[in-house]
Amino acid sequence: MATTAGVYRNGNHSRNSQSTNNNKVEKPLSFNPNPKNSLKSKSLPGSGLRRSAPSSLGTAKDDTGVPGRVRVAVRLRPRNEEEMVADADFADCVELLPEVKRLKLRKNNWDSDTYEFDEVLTEFASQKRVYEVVAKPVVESVMDGYNGTVMAYGQTGTGKTYTLGRLGEEDTSARGIMVRAMEDILADVSQETDSVSVSYLQLYMETIQDLLDPTNGNISIVEDPKSGDVSLPGASVVEIRNQKSFVELLRLGEAHRFAANTKLNTESSRSHAILMVHVKRSFKGRDSILSSETGNNPHMAKSLKPPIIRKGKLVVVDLAGSERIDKSGSGGHALEEAKSINLSLSALGKCINALAENSSHVPIRDSKLTRLLRDSFGGSARTSLVITIGPSPRHRGETASTIMFGQRAMKVENMLKLKEEFDYKSLSRRLDIQLEKLIAEHEKQQKAFENEIERVTTEAKLQISESERTYAVELEKERLNNQKEYMESIKKLEEKWMMNQQKHAGGENIAGLKDESSNWISNGEDSRVANMEELSEMKTKLQKETLLRKAAEEEVNKLKSQLAELKKSEASAKSDISKLQKKLEDEACQKEKLEGEIATLQSQLLQISFEADETARRIDKGWYEKVPGSLDSLMLQVRQPQNNDSGNGEKASIAKLFEQVGLQRILSLLEAEDVDVRIHAVKVVANLAAEETNQEKIVEAGGLKSLLMLLRSSKDETIHRVAAGAIANLAMSETNQELIMAQGGIRLLSMTAGSAKDPQTLRMVAGAIANLCGNDKLQMKLRGEGGIKALLGMVRCGHPDVLAQVARGIANFAKCESRASTQGTKNERSLLIEDGVLPWIVQNANNEASPIRRHIELALCHLAQHEVNAKDMISGGALWELVRISRDCSREDIRTLAHRTLTCSPTFQAGMSRLGIDY
Ligand code: ADP
Ligand code: MG
Repeated sequence: MATTAGVYRNGNHSRNSQSTNNNKVEKPLSFNPNPKNSLKSKSLPGSGLRRSAPSSLGTAKDDTGVPGRVRVAVRLRPRNEEEMVADADFADCVELLPEVKRLKLRKNNWDSDTYEFDEVLTEFASQKRVYEVVAKPVVESVMDGYNGTVMAYGQTGTGKTYTLGRLGEEDTSARGIMVRAMEDILADVSQETDSVSVSYLQLYMETIQDLLDPTNGNISIVEDPKSGDVSLPGASVVEIRNQKSFVELLRLGEAHRFAANTKLNTESSRSHAILMVHVKRSFKGRDSILSSETGNNPHMAKSLKPPIIRKGKLVVVDLAGSERIDKSGSGGHALEEAKSINLSLSALGKCINALAENSSHVPIRDSKLTRLLRDSFGGSARTSLVITIGPSPRHRGETASTIMFGQRAMKVENMLKLKEEFDYKSLSRRLDIQLEKLIAEHEKQQKAFENEIERVTTEAKLQISESERTYAVELEKERLNNQKEYMESIKKLEEKWMMNQQKHAGGENIAGLKDESSNWISNGEDSRVANMEELSEMKTKLQKETLLRKAAEEEVNKLKSQLAELKKSEASAKSDISKLQKKLEDEACQKEKLEGEIATLQSQLLQISFEADETARRIDKGWYEKVPGSLDSLMLQVRQPQNNDSGNGEKASIAKLFEQVGLQRILSLLEAEDVDVRIHAVKVVANLAAEETNQEKIVEAGGLKSLLMLLRSSKDETIHRVAAGAIANLAMSETNQELIMAQGGIRLLSMTAGSAKDPQTLRMVAGAIANLCGNDKLQMKLRGEGGIKALLGMVRCGHPDVLAQVARGIANFAKCESRASTQGTKNERSLLIEDGVLPWIVQNANNEASPIRRHIELALCHLAQHEVNAKDMISGGALWELVRISRDCSREDIRTLAHRTLTCSPTFQAGMSRLGIDY
């Protein structure tokens, strides 16, 4: 293979010096053409954070993609009937090496030039594969709100229209890029909230015609001076609701194109056909928390998100034939026409040259085509170019110039611009309304409290003064009563006493005169009786008096207890008041907190608008810097984990993120509700897992469990792919291998393998299982849980990188088995043979991709170590391969091992003599 600097050329000479690493011929696992975006990992370089198909041209996409290089694929048309006859004695002028993405252009019989492309599509490449590698990533970006362009460039008859425009109605496998792109778009949009519309145009002799409305003859191009967006306001725009109406429309456009070309006496190959698809999608902002009116949720602001509208535009351009005029034999009008075609095409070539060389002047305005594609090349779009070539050596010159065009286009870098509009106005309005509501509610509550307190206070005061007054009146009344009664009794007693005194004095006088003694006795008798009566009267009075006093005393006690009662109720009123006051204070405190939160909300709103402005400004300036790290900007960082220019910067930023945010927090985001957040979080974890120093920490913090959980619970293939990549990295250590097995990892990986569509996902899963296959202790369990079957199942995808991982797994497994049999711990036939691996190994033992071949050769040698496998190997055709390996294998150690095995094994010896192999 000619790989010296003189003959080897690489279109992928990015301005990054690291890219030279990429020029090495041996790069068995990596197919990330942009080394600055590749992730470092031991077993799986570039542990794919990609969403699209294998070696997709849109790799830049998942690498935050700003800026993104124009991706270029080359497609070779098979020989047509005429060429089969005319070129029967000649070799094709090109030789494709798809596994290393190279093309050799023959100069003569002994010399050729080699070129590298982002993808090399052989004459056997299916339309489906072409779509997946050329257009699918672009369509995905359009769905995400970017502008995307797919174009085909090449000589007439090399398959541009075949690649882009085939409707494939009779045979769906023949559908071209336009039809497949619309299918993907329609499958992804929501009929209620999103819209898809198309325009279909032809550019011929610097005039743009509407293919959907032939009366619409001269459409002008309008460029928005601010955004640089190009639009064609005069063109018909048709809303697309289903695939059928779109195919109808394409057919109509083709018919109009044919009619117009007949009228103008030209062929469609001389005009450019342009399909524009506008996709408008709306994403709801998450505002449910706001409307729940909890009022004091401190996390409220974090979950605020304004509604978003994303507008993407897909432009598919079937360019006019690139052949030179002198060859097309034109004259007269045709010459004018050819010049015109070439005016647009050569202007395109000049622009690409200028952009590739980073020239300060890009002659965009020289032609309609370049004005129309202004945001596709060097603009704000993700662009894929497929250059089509034919095999005929007679067109070597055209083929060479097409290849050179593609090589230059590979150097053009685009700046991506997300067409996303944040509806800040409505968010701000909503916040204002919410704020006013909160304030009004609070004021109302405070007023009610104040009123209540006033009412209770006056009521209590009234009650107290009322009771005090009643008490005083009652007391006075009682006192006066008692006094009066007392005075009356005293008066009565005094009167009586006087009367007694008088009586007593009169009696003494009479007794001195008369019979003193008898009178005395009788008088004495009388006065004693009187005295006794008086005494008893007084006694009764005294008793009455005592009773009255007692009653008065009781009354006093009663009043006293009433007073105490009143005092008690006064105290409880007072405590009520103080309780209310406390409540009031709490309320005030709450209000202050709310006001604080409102202030935070406002400042966050400000910050969001500020960041949006900043981002817009940076994108306008064509530069996107890393958002400085802080805990608060975690989301931003997680969303843009690879914003840096260099792998080192990226690693450093991830490490910084890790340090600042903490692993636990990153892992918790793996369970976030928002699928985007989950995807970005798992990417961050995968990045971390690629570093050996982080692996233990990740497993300790439960990261392995979370990753396995994601395989089980998530339906998103990107998550599956990235999680499997991270698991594959973790599966490099023996301890982790055991943990993965113990946590049902094999079943989950097998499940993922069964449902995966993207070869990248399969590569990650196969890589993880392959690592597990290398653990002696896990052999039985791995096989018992279907690991080998899952591995073998993945070969269905046919992608060489997946096959290489499968082969590695089988080789690992076979190595462990051969070790066990040498140690005498295993005597039975190989589990690999039991599980039916042999036919696939034999079939691929001489695979042209060296990583696959080498692993299989190793596996065969390991299996051959154990005599018990020999019979199956012979009947399965493996003996031939072993013989070949022992003779031709480029690795000496494998060659020797194979040779030794063949010469030592009696079964193989017998087999060889039976098959007539002379050894
Ligand atoms: P262009 O648009 O570049 O002028 P076309 O797409 O019209 O070329 O292709 C020219 C002819 O070659 C057509 O008959 C087409 O069917 C055939 N063709 C082109 N590419 C392929 C391919 N990859 N496989 C089979 N036939 C092809
Ligand atoms: Mg064509």
